[in-house]
Amino acid sequence: MSSEDRIDLVIVGGGPAGLTAGIYAMRAAMHTLLVERAVPGGQVNLSEAVENWPGEPHIGGGELALKMLEHARQYGLEIRDAEVVAVEPGLECHTVRLAGGEEIRTHAVILATGGSPRKLGVPGELEYYGKGVSYCAVCDGFFFRGKSVAVVGGGDSAVEEALYLAKLARHVYLVHRRDQLRASMILQQRARAECKIEFVWNSQVTAIRADASGVRAVEVENRQSGARRDLAVDGLFVFIGFEPNNALVPAGARMSAEGYVITDEACATNIPGIYAVGDLRHKYARQIVIAAADGCTAALAAAHYVEARKASGVCAVPEEAGRR
Ligand code: NAP
Repeated sequence: MSSEDRIDLVIVGGGPAGLTAGIYAMRAAMHTLLVERAVPGGQVNLSEAVENWPGEPHIGGGELALKMLEHARQYGLEIRDAEVVAVEPGLECHTVRLAGGEEIRTHAVILATGGSPRKLGVPGELEYYGKGVSYCAVCDGFFFRGKSVAVVGGGDSAVEEALYLAKLARHVYLVHRRDQLRASMILQQRARAECKIEFVWNSQVTAIRADASGVRAVEVENRQSGARRDLAVDGLFVFIGFEPNNALVPAGARMSAEGYVITDEACATNIPGIYAVGDLRHKYARQIVIAAADGCTAALAAAHYVEARKASGVCAVPEEAGRR
């Protein structure tokens, strides 16, 4: 294998973490490829508005994602619309396999695969997904204008999305399993001031009632009294956190019990040359600004790692040895 067979860096995932990594990698003159199977921007695309990105007091999620993408493109970052099916660590280089069979050899990999909405796990949830059950208010809220909906969860996402839905829907039940929200105080204050939002405390959704035209009600159980009642709603929006998208994390990488990748302060995993950033990485808080910071950190660390490998002659493998 020759050094030409491999590139410097593959970034898997094109959300804020991946795109920021791309910007910093290009600024460090690394030969970089970003692979994204869906629309670049990640979960930010699903937010109606972002109000905590420094310098932008209020910006649409889609607009912010597009700005990040344009910024990365201005540096000439190559972005491939493809699905990565495996990341295989190696001693000489790592291999990133794409659906369709293509293999990309690279010195370093930044995993920026983010997370996916956690599911409630109640009967009918998956069956009625798209027919009243949703994990994205910005995508589906429009269909519930003038109707009643239930939002499940007590974190930033649930409260933010409940506020968004309150602008469209007639009534919004906010069903939370405790009697205290986890969301930031500013969001809590806004939700409490919104007369269309009714809190259903200490409660969990136990059943989804639906007919051929979709969701008609959800059954909620009070966790203290055990009492059950139906909330007549046309839509159920679930925002109970995220599961890390860790399917591509190579075996042997250190993970937390919850499935997040454990890294050092440089976002490096315990596998040399493999980094994890954004919502995939185990850390204190998950915010866009932190995902971006992770991307920056990992790209700077990867640039240093690749430079050191090149300087130490790791790439100076004889041409005939393993050329594809
Ligand atoms: P989160 O902060 O983990 O909150 C999840 C909520 O769902 C919690 O209230 C939790 O209840 C509840 N929950 C978890 N599993 C449940 C289950 N099986 N049944 C019922 N309820 C369940 O998740 P998130 O709101 O999606 O936020 C994820 C991260 O993104 C957070 O770090 C958040 O700060 C960040 N975020 C930030 C913003 C912003 O800054 N504008 C916006 C969105 C998200 P308990 O409280 O009882 O655990």
